[in-house]
Amino acid sequence: MLYAQVHLTLPPWVHDEVDATRLYPDAASRIALAIDLSRRNVTHRSGGPFGAAVFNAGGRLIGIGVNRVVPSNCSAAHAEVMALATSQQRTQRFRLNEDGERITLATSSQPCAMCYGALIWGGIDELLIAARADDVQTLAGFDEGPLPADWSGELEKRGIAVQRDLMREHACDVLRTYGESGVVY
Ligand SMILES: [Zn+2]
Repeated sequence: MLYAQVHLTLPPWVHDEVDATRLYPDAASRIALAIDLSRRNVTHRSGGPFGAAVFNAGGRLIGIGVNRVVPSNCSAAHAEVMALATSQQRTQRFRLNEDGERITLATSSQPCAMCYGALIWGGIDELLIAARADDVQTLAGFDEGPLPADWSGELEKRGIAVQRDLMREHACDVLRTYGESGVVY
């Protein structure tokens, strides 16, 4: 029998440990949440060391994501895709900024080749990144895949502003903890 649906879920701890009511007014608070999600995902062993979150212009949290590849047996279940997808389901929009609202995606690590494409189609205006692809490779052993040489310039051309290296060391701490654990989850 062929499967006709895909069911992806965030871990149960998100309901107890993420404050969905507070405001995240600036880049620092938004990237801090993405990194905090990555750390909690490692602590709970509920997926790989990556977290992401989507915010509206006022700093309201629309959706979050953590890596769920291993628990879901789904290679697409990266943190950025999970954050975009849960936000799209909540707002019932496949392009999150279609009504002109400025949408921000914050992610604990530079998006991989797949997430790079996903964020272009997801309808965001701003991308906030903590760790670099090199950090992910060196500290946690993940290949981020091929990106255009001028990947951030290609985003800017499409109206997506990019800020990099935000709280990079904090994100690297999580990647290092995961890498040194020797456990794959
Ligand atoms: Zn990815």
